[in-house]
Amino acid sequence: MGYQRETVCIHGQGSREAVESTGAISFPIYQTAAYAHPGVGRSTGYDYNRVQNPTRKELERIMTDLEHGLDTIAFATGMAAVSALMELFMPGDHVVATDDLYGGVIRQFRKVNEKNGMTFTYVDTSDLQAVEEAIRENTKLIYIETPTNPMMKVTDLQAVSDIAKRHGCLVAVDNTFLTPCFQNPLDLGADVVIHSATKYLEGHNDTLGGFLVTSRAEISDKIREMVKTTGACLAPFDAWLILRGLKTLSVRMAKHQENALAVARWLTGHPKVTEVFYTGLETHPGYAVSQKQCRGYGGMLTFHVDTQETAHSVLERVKLIQFAESLGGTESLITYPYTQTHADVPDEKRRANGIDERTLRMSLGIEHVQDLIADLGQALA
Ligand SMILES: *Cc1c(COP(=O)(O)O)cnc(C)c1O
Repeated sequence: MGYQRETVCIHGQGSREAVESTGAISFPIYQTAAYAHPGVGRSTGYDYNRVQNPTRKELERIMTDLEHGLDTIAFATGMAAVSALMELFMPGDHVVATDDLYGGVIRQFRKVNEKNGMTFTYVDTSDLQAVEEAIRENTKLIYIETPTNPMMKVTDLQAVSDIAKRHGCLVAVDNTFLTPCFQNPLDLGADVVIHSATKYLEGHNDTLGGFLVTSRAEISDKIREMVKTTGACLAPFDAWLILRGLKTLSVRMAKHQENALAVARWLTGHPKVTEVFYTGLETHPGYAVSQKQCRGYGGMLTFHVDTQETAHSVLERVKLIQFAESLGGTESLITYPYTQTHADVPDEKRRANGIDERTLRMSLGIEHVQDLIADLGQALA
């Protein structure tokens, strides 16, 4: 059995490593580059900070328990976790990926992995037949974001994992949007979970971090070898900030979601809003699959306004809500995917995915919802 999720956010399932004896409630920050050896050929288990650090290890232990994994490797950023994952593959390998991915991940695939001889097919992974049809002899990975960014499409993770097993390929799921509070992809058959810890896990818009969590020992071994080699490890102070953020994850997620649902409902009734994309609305096409595989819908929503002029004026007129990229922090942010997060995606592709000059994406913070609605109201007036 073990502890409930809220408790795991703070303590993990087991007890922390006894690296010091003061009884400090907050785990210490081990701000050191190297560790002294007790003798020739001997080690304390800690040699050099790129490979071992107690603060980072404590964070990895809690993340592993939250995601029901076998091991977690912490990185300096979410993108560093994605690029380490891609090192598992070889030139000639093929990947099937969600067509509505985080822009930086598309850039990684295009500018790094394609250059190195890998090929990619982008499909709407909420369409299981499209996934099955995209798989080739040399497909080694299905890479999924669900819900997607920014259009909130939902992929049935159990069904995609079943398809992957039949074809002998791995499944990696970016769980940044829902966090382990609301979704555990490894329980649904995924092999790897990716996180940008910069977002909800750290939660305060003040540092970057990333995780790769896996249920498989051979993947964990290879990724640990890779981070030791390529060096994108998470710094001790940033590990501590994320540890501190995680303690309040479950209460923050509940509030982010409460605000998102209230704002989604309010936007739905606004005359200048033509469409609202939030997986917690019964009318959302991904609602049923979300009900089946998630415990919540999260704090992200996207909406279309009537004209480009309205979109621009909202971005310029919001006062409390800030016009900024990123998401998942205590502060509410609004962004313009067309020219910001998805500027690198070819226009044809952006439009095919439903992103145009009238699309706005919001990350609901944990402010009082009346203040958020009042701000949106004056910006849309
Ligand atoms: C931000 C983000 C990333 C990249 O993470 P960084 O920490 O910014 O490197 C990857 N996936 C999603 C869904 C994100 O939102």
